[in-house]
Amino acid sequence: MAEEGAAEPGVELDGVAVRFGDVTALSDVDLSIADGEFFTLVGPSGCGKTTTLRTLAGFEMPSTGTVRIDGADVTDQSPEDRDCGIVFQNYALFPHMTVRENVAYGLRYRSPPGGADPDERVTAMLELVDMGGMGDRTPESLSGGQKQRIALARALAPGPDVLLLDEPLSALDARLRERLRVSIREIQRELDITTVYVTHDQEEALAISDRIAVVNHGHVEQVGTPQAVYHNPATRFVAEFMGENNVFDATIERRDPPRVTVEGTTIPLEESLPNQQGVTVCVRPEDVTLGDGDVTLSASVEHVEFLGDAYRVHCEWNGHAVLAKTGTAPTGDAVSLGIDAADVTVVGDGKS
Ligand code: ATP
Repeated sequence: MAEEGAAEPGVELDGVAVRFGDVTALSDVDLSIADGEFFTLVGPSGCGKTTTLRTLAGFEMPSTGTVRIDGADVTDQSPEDRDCGIVFQNYALFPHMTVRENVAYGLRYRSPPGGADPDERVTAMLELVDMGGMGDRTPESLSGGQKQRIALARALAPGPDVLLLDEPLSALDARLRERLRVSIREIQRELDITTVYVTHDQEEALAISDRIAVVNHGHVEQVGTPQAVYHNPATRFVAEFMGENNVFDATIERRDPPRVTVEGTTIPLEESLPNQQGVTVCVRPEDVTLGDGDVTLSASVEHVEFLGDAYRVHCEWNGHAVLAKTGTAPTGDAVSLGIDAADVTVVGDGKS
């Protein structure tokens, strides 16, 4: 696992395992999330994202390991004793209460920070989420995006140390999702609150996060900035999950200069090669061009999709699917795909 150090941890998981009967939902998870950081857990369905969040919140008890918030060991503390605000996918608003009452509910067991007046705090939270003036409405009169803003205001009302967001946008349509994720990030920056965000959507993870943990089968495959995870995947799983990388098993042809062979075709590299026989290499679709490159693949075009700002060209080369994202559409069924050495990434073995 590639873990980058983070100063002043706001949230830490140290060797955490969580089991449900025979199911190991999390095994040996180490995470160190900095104070004020926007940190995202991304991975496929069932990989353990929600369990990680619930463990932070105190709803699940680890069988081994330690959970710390702001440096304090909270492993044995109940959810009520942890200073976490939580937003779920399905809003979980009370339908019989007004918007104001829903937000005020967040203050039922906790006083507003700094001894603020509860009514003023609710008003301030409604304004923070851009819902000032909507306090007398009931949840059913709100759109999905507005409901989620209210759920966020309720979670933030007591001024928690940590904000936990479990797929908060996944019930919304694509356009609204993009708008609300910008709002969430702006609010998080304004409050400078340590935030752990769960999504299965890698594009959302890349767009919103300071750092990302890619989770697979209950363990963390890589932790890094969006750029690091996208451009330097530590494992094949990360390469395939984060975007639509073209991933190939390759054999090493020579080390200096570095070259690998895929299906009898030599692919030059700029990266140095690990000390092993076979490697995995990957190329981003946007780095596969129509025409010649350092290496040129003679491929056939299977299917072309128009995306508005680009084309997704699905090709077949020597029995491999190769995806190119290009500015123009190919003109015939046969196509030359160019790849430059600088754009070929060697995928690590996950131990780097
Ligand atoms: P999704 O994106 O589908 O919500 P996830 O990544 O959040 O998935 P988790 O909900 O954390 O995954 O589940 C991790 C694993 O633990 C899965 O195999 C799941 O079936 C199992 N699991 C989670 N909660 C329980 C439970 N209460 N009892 C038994 N197994 C559970």
